[in-house]
Amino acid sequence: MTSAAPHSELPTRPARHRAYADVPDAQWSDWRWQMRSRVTRLQPLAALIDLTEDERRGIEGRRDAFGFAITPYYLSLIGPPGCPVRRQAIPHVDELRTTPWDLVDPLAEDEHAVTPILTHRYPDRALLYVTHNCPVYCRHCTRQRKVGDVDSAPARDMFEASYDYLARTPAVRDVLISGGDPLSLSDARLAEICGRLRAIPSIEVVRLCTRNPVTLPQRITPALVDALRPFHPVFVHTHFNHPAECTPEAGEALVRLADAGFNVGNQMVLLRGINDDAATVETLNRWLVRHRCRPYYMLQCDPVGGTAHLRTPVAAGVDILDAMRGRVSGLAIPQLVVDLPGGGGKVTLTPQRLVRREGAKRVYRDVQGREYTYVDEPL
Ligand code: SF4
Repeated sequence: MTSAAPHSELPTRPARHRAYADVPDAQWSDWRWQMRSRVTRLQPLAALIDLTEDERRGIEGRRDAFGFAITPYYLSLIGPPGCPVRRQAIPHVDELRTTPWDLVDPLAEDEHAVTPILTHRYPDRALLYVTHNCPVYCRHCTRQRKVGDVDSAPARDMFEASYDYLARTPAVRDVLISGGDPLSLSDARLAEICGRLRAIPSIEVVRLCTRNPVTLPQRITPALVDALRPFHPVFVHTHFNHPAECTPEAGEALVRLADAGFNVGNQMVLLRGINDDAATVETLNRWLVRHRCRPYYMLQCDPVGGTAHLRTPVAAGVDILDAMRGRVSGLAIPQLVVDLPGGGGKVTLTPQRLVRREGAKRVYRDVQGREYTYVDEPL
């Protein structure tokens, strides 16, 4: 029941769902209209998408714990059941399945909170939650405990306490502005937050963690980049997961950020049946590089409750890297990372290429399995 393009190739122009065909272009391109027009309840969604019984049960079963929201733009990319966009946006009954290893806060962010909205876990970095709101509630979200809870919305005094802490803690040089999706806030509010952070002399870098280029690329306006440009260096971490999300609008958003001097990187999450194969990752990453966005991380999905059906074996990511290395430009190859549950931090995984050691000799295999020797004997 949708007008989305097939996902076997990159979308040329995202076809709007027929329900939005008469929306004037100026309105369609207005991010506030997109936010106001999000679909957030079962009946309106069922009028737009031919839902399966498993999706209906997922929506009902997850309504209180982690509801859904979908912008008209992202909804227009949704294809038939199994579609990678659909699986990221529409709850499924499989979200009700649990495992003994599921966690509410897998990265122990709350345990390391120094204010209600600031986590300080690594010596030189801190994470500031500025909103619980997002254009789309991704079904694999690690922070669904916060984004699904309207009571977790940050208050002004929490910001002040966080700025005070950062000013008193010069070891922190790098602040990640996250949420929720920070770009849910207005330009003025974002500029105010960036300005307060950059006014702290010890803070060298600000990072914006946002999925808006994927779920609401209309948000990346000339006014937004003008408002944030004075606070460089600002790094943007976005989160594309599949080539079906690589629309011309999304590409324009990335290029606009790059043109304005933002250093843009992508953190994809490995998701079972969505992007856990080398061909999909290669297509996605080649597109990202063409749009000046560096594939940065390929993350193992965190063991947050409701995501067991989306998690891949750890070996899947290693196999993808193994298939890409040597064949695909290193620019398009991200680091494979597992964020250790309980707050242990990130570990990177790589394919094992060392075959054996023979004295000072190290024998490695290449992508075809051929062996080569490197003599590890500097003068
Ligand atoms: S945009 Fe980010 S914070 Fe919001 S639901 Fe998606 S993954 Fe979670």
